[in-house]
Amino acid sequence: MSIWFTEKQTENFGITAKIKQTYVSEKTDFQQLDMVETEEFGNMLLLDGMVMTTEKDEFVYHEMIAHVPLHTHPNPKKVLVVGGGDGGVIREILKHPEVEKATLVDIDGKVIEYSKQYLPTIAGKLDDPRVDVQVDDGFMHIAKSEKEYDVILVDSTEPVGPAVNLFTKGFYEGIAKALKDDGVFVAQTDNPWFQQDLIRNAYQDVSETFPITRLYTANIPTYPSGLWTFTLGSKTYDPLEVTEERFHELDTKYYTNDIHRAAFALPKFVADLLKK
Ligand code: SAM
Repeated sequence: MSIWFTEKQTENFGITAKIKQTYVSEKTDFQQLDMVETEEFGNMLLLDGMVMTTEKDEFVYHEMIAHVPLHTHPNPKKVLVVGGGDGGVIREILKHPEVEKATLVDIDGKVIEYSKQYLPTIAGKLDDPRVDVQVDDGFMHIAKSEKEYDVILVDSTEPVGPAVNLFTKGFYEGIAKALKDDGVFVAQTDNPWFQQDLIRNAYQDVSETFPITRLYTANIPTYPSGLWTFTLGSKTYDPLEVTEERFHELDTKYYTNDIHRAAFALPKFVADLLKK
């Protein structure tokens, strides 16, 4: 008998994956956590029934949320990740030699624990000496930080449950305060097919908080609709003005210098979301 998992991406549409085995199915203090092995995408982390990351396609999201801002900032020494407990963004951040310290603040220690155990290719750098892992509410961490970070990446779940505060204008204002005077920030901002209001509102709030705001996209097959967005806010540096010599030669599978630029070329229906 075959077992299939379906993520309902809307009330009327979903994605389904054939499951080989279930490693973990646990209600943590914050969310339902499932770790399964799939036939097509390897091990898969689910939170509250939503695909968070898979061994097969995780590199797209983790490379794109990290290398665009880390090349945009000319000398990113101190980086903060809000969420990101699967460790993939940390793995990518550490590919930048300028980074002296990467702090990860995830509210749920169980995500970190099970990612280390079942997603070693993703979580394998969480014990690196440059990494400081804290189990805490990212909203509270941002509230008590001031001019601390060069780059902040918000790798959170959807704006439900523990992440609901991470998509508010107040949070983006807190990020601006936590960043140094030339800081850069990126948040994952879901998909333009089913979450148009989220993207529109986030872009509007970030635009009112940062002098430079840009949206970029990537193709992520296991995320709702397969087209994902990232919203970048910057106090000084424009991601479209990164010079050729700034780019590092990085060990990547999706991100390239050309993809860095092309990702900001938006389909018309996405660009139209950003018009006031
Ligand atoms: N790439 C995924 C996506 O785009 O949906 C996100 C993956 S990562 C596992 C999401 C993390 O956000 C989870 O580990 C969750 O515990 C964390 N998270 C949710 N709310 C949080 C909060 N308020 N503070 C810190 N971490 C939070």
